Amino acid sequence: MNGHDFVPQLISTAKAWLEESEFILFSAGAGMTAAAGINYADTALFKREYPAMLQYGFNAQYELIGFDNWTPDLQWGYWAAHVNFVRFKWPQTEVYQQFHQLAAHIDNENTFVMTSNVDAMFERNGFDANRIYTPQGDYALLQCTTPCTDDVWPWKAQIDKIIAATDPKTQRLLDNSLIPCCPNCGGTVFPNVRSDASFIDAHLLPNGRGLEKWLNRAKDKKGVIIEVGAGFNTPSVIRWPNEHIICSMPDWKLLRINFTHADVPDNLSKRAIGFKGNAANIIQNLQ
Ligand SMILES: [Zn+2]
Repeated sequence: MNGHDFVPQLISTAKAWLEESEFILFSAGAGMTAAAGINYADTALFKREYPAMLQYGFNAQYELIGFDNWTPDLQWGYWAAHVNFVRFKWPQTEVYQQFHQLAAHIDNENTFVMTSNVDAMFERNGFDANRIYTPQGDYALLQCTTPCTDDVWPWKAQIDKIIAATDPKTQRLLDNSLIPCCPNCGGTVFPNVRSDASFIDAHLLPNGRGLEKWLNRAKDKKGVIIEVGAGFNTPSVIRWPNEHIICSMPDWKLLRINFTHADVPDNLSKRAIGFKGNAANIIQNLQ
């Protein structure tokens, strides 16, 4: 079924599902980050935050995701600024607070978060870190690109030093001794986010297992998955697993909010509603 634009009757149904729910799984992809104000395609934001990058022909953050034709001085000058901006600097955001409010009627223990986002916005907006599963990693950590061990380590202190030593006119790091490297093998490193087979996820598995146990506890109860902005870039991470959960748990419902891809599978249409449009508006209307 195609997703719906704003339809009052469907909002009422969705609110009733939320009100009767005993468990809520919050689920989000890049569209939630955009709803919170960081749109990776936003050229005005890019120009404001990284003005020096325009001279190299870049105009939006998404263009640098997966880009690998760097010189190390520009790579780290940019990535330190980018991670600092989206992972540390961005303030608490109303859309996350309102998201949290949807579960105000149930125990915190009966909520869980599964997100493909690597910006820790759920944790920074008051969701319990012990019940957040982030299978795509976390910008706040570095890992060896080989990788020679399963180690990941925080790099915020290094980010601050790199930013202080970056030329704002070129975005290039001026002090090569600050280029991050693996403390074990001395090789290259990168933020711990899933991009290829070198991704280290061992440290994420405890919360992944926590989610499995939580779903086991919740499977015979009334529950809702509320999914925001998980489209078809990496559907196997959030979108398809959510559909699978709903298929296997007959007392659960799916609320899918998506700017363009709000459709839900036909066989789930009695237990799933897709809302197409601005996530912040729709979440506000579900209060
Ligand atoms: Zn290494």
